[in-house]
Parts: sequence; structure tokens; C-alpha cells
Amino acid sequence: MTDVRAQTTRAPATDDRFSVPLRGVRVDPETRCQHYDAPSDRIAIKFACCDVYYPCVQCHRATTEHEPERWPQTRRHEPTVLCGACDRTMSAVVYLQSNHSCPHCGAAFNPGCAAHHDQYFAFAE
Ligand SMILES: [Zn+2]
Ligand SMILES: [Zn+2]
Ligand SMILES: [Zn+2]
Repeated sequence: MTDVRAQTTRAPATDDRFSVPLRGVRVDPETRCQHYDAPSDRIAIKFACCDVYYPCVQCHRATTEHEPERWPQTRRHEPTVLCGACDRTMSAVVYLQSNHSCPHCGAAFNPGCAAHHDQYFAFAE
């Protein structure tokens, strides 16, 4: 799908449309990307290596030179997940317990993301 508002941002730049540092490939205004663009694909996740949010790990690989580092358990209560619908953040713990919708605005999240959590979080709920 082609969204004219999609924007690619590479390191060291960050995408100024969002309230947090974020980058990725063909990112739309709700943080869908070239790799995940279903209606409910509207979160971005922070990586511990650079403290920057990306819509997915492939976006991290495509827009930076360093290896992605998953979010550690010791920081599980810090803001880690951005809701692309309301531009607000939540911790990994809150996200994992959110039952696939944003605790702030109620927007639906993709339940299929659960299959990939181990690529983003170094712990399970
Ligand atoms: Zn990084
Ligand atoms: Zn992506
Ligand atoms: Zn939200």
C-alpha cells in the first residue's frame, strides 16, 4: 500500500512527526512501516542500544549501522512502546497486559505482534 504521507528516516536523524525519537522505512502517521502496514499495526518499540523507537526490527536494521539490542527486564517499567494513534507511550509491562488495545485511547493493536515479542523484549510479561 502506498501512503503519500509515508516517510523514511535514517540515523542519525529522527522523525519529527512524533513526540519521541523514532525512525524507520516508509513510516506513516500512525507508525505503520514498509514491513507491517495492516490497519492495527500502529505501535513503535524502543530499542535499548540507541533509545530510539522503530515500527519493527527490520526498520532498525535498515536505518542504523549497529546491531539491535532488546529492551531489558530491568527497564520494563520505563516507557518503551509508542501508540501511533495517540502518540503516547506505555511501558512494556503495560503493553504486554493491554489485551491488544491502547490503554490511553483504545485504538486496536495487532494481536499477531505477540509472536514477535522476543525480538523486542528480553523478557515475557
Ligand atoms: Zn539501536
Ligand atoms: Zn518496519
Ligand atoms: Zn493510543
